[in-house]
Amino acid sequence: MIITRPRDWARIKANLAEVGAEKVFLMGCGQCATVASTGGEKEILQAKAAIEATGRTVTGWAVGEVACHSGGTKLEARKHVGDISDADAVVVLACGAGVQTVADSVSKPVFPGLESVFLGNVVRHGVFEERCQMCGDCVLDKTAGICPVTTCPKGLLNGPCGGMWGGMCEVLTDRECAHVRIQRRLTEQGRGRGRATLEPKDFSKKLKPGSVNLREKKGTSAGGGRDE
Ligand code: SF4
Ligand code: SF4
Repeated sequence: MIITRPRDWARIKANLAEVGAEKVFLMGCGQCATVASTGGEKEILQAKAAIEATGRTVTGWAVGEVACHSGGTKLEARKHVGDISDADAVVVLACGAGVQTVADSVSKPVFPGLESVFLGNVVRHGVFEERCQMCGDCVLDKTAGICPVTTCPKGLLNGPCGGMWGGMCEVLTDRECAHVRIQRRLTEQGRGRGRATLEPKDFSKKLKPGSVNLREKKGTSAGGGRDE
């Protein structure tokens, strides 16, 4: 899921002031931002109170099923067309993809209410960790299912670096070095003590913006899409 954190409130207020917005509509996201406790109903109501405390009016709010779903967000905007047309601006408590989907769905100025920080694993309730940066050229088959690109702070494919000490990472000193973990798991799985050196990554597989179209005959892709 996409992990978000609250955006500096001063920036949101400055955005509203820039367009002279006295009336605001709020939109959240029923998926990632709800799980991350940043853009669900509770946080929308908190944002509503904060905006009202500045003397502005909140014309309405909505938490759609998935903010980054184009059809669903357009439908949600249609359901609230009156409240949105009464507003001078829309503030979205969702990831950047969700904010852009809302901006495509309404004619008012749309501002982000959150910062999008990483693709995260849910380790347990309220605890998220970054395990994959979606590089488009996965090496997990060679690294026992542990991503060195993401879990080594230096992103080294072949480690450990010279700073590893006693098996611990020199950057995140409370964590074991990613390459020590990789080697231990490979050894436990009987996959050899000395793993092969990984080749430099092919960053052409991570061209932006990624797109995949499964509706076309063979499926077209670009950037983050599939090799076909
Ligand atoms: S190698 Fe790339 S695709 Fe695979 S887990 Fe790491 S960042 Fe993600
Ligand atoms: S100690 Fe290991 S995990 Fe930490 S930066 Fe060096 S190679 Fe990466």
